[in-house]
Amino acid sequence: MEEKIESLNYLKKREITRLKKLGIETIEDCFYYFPNKYEDFSKISKISEAEIGIPLTIQGKIESIKNLFLRGGKILTEIEISDSSSRIKAVFYNQPFLKNVFKKGEFFSFSGKIVQKKGYFYLQHPVFEKIPKIPHFNLLHTGKIIPIYPETKGITTKWIREKISLVLKNEIWRAREFLPEKILKKLNLVPLKEAILKIHFPETKEDIKISRFRFAFEELFLLEIEVLREKLKVKKKRAYPLKIQVEAIKEFIKSLPFELTESQKKETWRMLKEMEKSVPMNRLLQGDVGSGKTLVATILALNCAKNNYQSAMIAPTEILAAQHYRKIFRMLEPFEKRIGILTKGYSEFAGKKLKKEEMIKKIKEGGVKILIGTHSLFEEKIEFQKLALLIFDEQHKFGVEQRRKLLEKQKILPHFLSMTATPIPRTLALTIFGDLDISLLKELPCGKREIEIKVVLPKEEKMVLEFIKEKIEEGEQVFFVCPRIEFSQKGRLFSEVKTVKEQHSLLKKFFPEFKIGILYGKMSTKEKEIVMRQFEEKFLDILVATNVIEEGIDLPQVNVLVIQNAEMFGLAQLYQLIGRIGRSGKKAFCFLISHLPTKKSAQRIEALLSSNNAFELAEKDLEIRGPGDLLGEKQTGKLDLKVAKLTDLGLIELARENAKEILKEDPNLRKYLKLRENLVRKRKIYFV
Ligand code: ADP
Ligand code: MG
Repeated sequence: MEEKIESLNYLKKREITRLKKLGIETIEDCFYYFPNKYEDFSKISKISEAEIGIPLTIQGKIESIKNLFLRGGKILTEIEISDSSSRIKAVFYNQPFLKNVFKKGEFFSFSGKIVQKKGYFYLQHPVFEKIPKIPHFNLLHTGKIIPIYPETKGITTKWIREKISLVLKNEIWRAREFLPEKILKKLNLVPLKEAILKIHFPETKEDIKISRFRFAFEELFLLEIEVLREKLKVKKKRAYPLKIQVEAIKEFIKSLPFELTESQKKETWRMLKEMEKSVPMNRLLQGDVGSGKTLVATILALNCAKNNYQSAMIAPTEILAAQHYRKIFRMLEPFEKRIGILTKGYSEFAGKKLKKEEMIKKIKEGGVKILIGTHSLFEEKIEFQKLALLIFDEQHKFGVEQRRKLLEKQKILPHFLSMTATPIPRTLALTIFGDLDISLLKELPCGKREIEIKVVLPKEEKMVLEFIKEKIEEGEQVFFVCPRIEFSQKGRLFSEVKTVKEQHSLLKKFFPEFKIGILYGKMSTKEKEIVMRQFEEKFLDILVATNVIEEGIDLPQVNVLVIQNAEMFGLAQLYQLIGRIGRSGKKAFCFLISHLPTKKSAQRIEALLSSNNAFELAEKDLEIRGPGDLLGEKQTGKLDLKVAKLTDLGLIELARENAKEILKEDPNLRKYLKLRENLVRKRKIYFV
């Protein structure tokens, strides 16, 4: 099956080049170049009995062929067809060459729909093919269920259908089943050879259903084996076992001005227990904004430091790293001072500024026990003495691939914890995040927030501004968020989208009496820091920002949020943004200014309004926008599923169960060599 198509001597050079344009390199690629839909032309009618408006096939003799030149330069080709019952015309626009394709007296098969116009009935733009003289002829494009292939680069579905049919006829014997026999039996799956034939050239609708089911299962099954093997691989490595420092932890918790929530207690304890072992923890901690994830991380880091090992917490931005550092240092100071921050622009240790070089040295020598930083820690290849715990904050987009690379380098892995406020739908938790165990912080310590969410049209903006004014006069602060600037293909800004800068100057004009700050990605770290501090300390009334603030800035005192061009955000993003506000116990307000009331954006915003369930919302987002928003483009490649749907939880679970069973029985797939070979080839997995 892996043979290159060049080896097929019945394909012309030119044809091979065209197939390659479609991404078909091997015979297997050809087998797996699936139709994206079908047309059912299996109803073969006599002309006199043909129904109007439904897909059907008419077979008959060519009686006449005419090219008519219409006003406006159009050319109409009329073909008259007869069978034993009657006559009908087939018409084509602007394909005058067809005149030479048909010959009077020949027999053709036409598939399409009959339309009625001004009392005339005719077949409009039907698909057609000559009926061969041989008695047991085989039609390809008409008279049955016809596969429709995605057309790209000027290659027609008809051409693709012909080539695929040809390759299938000659090469299908090469298809080797690789799914384990017992899975095929148990799930009653169509064997590979049959499934390939049925998905391309089904005889019945049932054929389409069962062949697609097999391939959907196959895709997910391979994906699950990959993910589960990744999980096993981590479990086979070693980590530093961390004793639970009960006293230190108790003291610390006692010093807090509040009680831990039930989830915080349960999940912290679970993780402490897990890290007692020398098997690396590999976990995703999910919880809404404000559910107290940082606190959980702080306890784990304290425990690690008291074991005399190091931990690192990676924040998505320098601003956030600084916020985390200040907060964690303030909380832990009485118990553990060996805390530092190291970002591109800044370093500090135990509350005092420290030169970068000295900081790097201190980390290497083990003097820093808890280090807070950003990704630059990896880029600059900072060395640790004994890194036992690695925590990622709000970076679920950091992919499996990158996690793997990071972890493979070391002999002893740090325990790994990834924290996110973005609800990860179960379907993704089982696939792209399937190598991680999952913890959930269910409740918010401050109780349910009361937030009034309103979708407004641009013409109602004035009203929003009036409202803001009132609120600021009452002493409130306002977040004003604009989407990150994106350019259209021609390099122009989408005309309806306001940039932060435009929004900033508009607001300044409208509110000369208020202090208005601006924050966006391209500003220097120093500038960002200053603006954030000014806002935190209430020197600013309004902060206009891009969704840089999406990534976890914690400003619980803010109760008013306006989102400009809300239609440009994913639901998960909107949810995150809304999570920033209303944590002071007061009622909060959020305005979503939507410029394009398209069906999709309205649907999303409606879902947002109607659902209080973050997970439900995430599922919907996945359904409407695909996984790009949730995962970032980098990771979606892995999920490049042709047949399976990422929203099909049932099938994902089924694939996972079966993958688990097979791996449990035979982790290196020694009994399933064909499956193993397939995984190596298709998913680049290596076995020992
Ligand atoms: P997250 O990272 O999950 O968004 P944080 O850990 O930053 O949330 O916590 C948000 C705020 O709630 C912080 O000010 C934190 O000190 C506070 N907090 C955390 N846990 C509790 C709790 N159990 N009770 C009350 N307040 C808490
Ligand atoms: Mg956080």
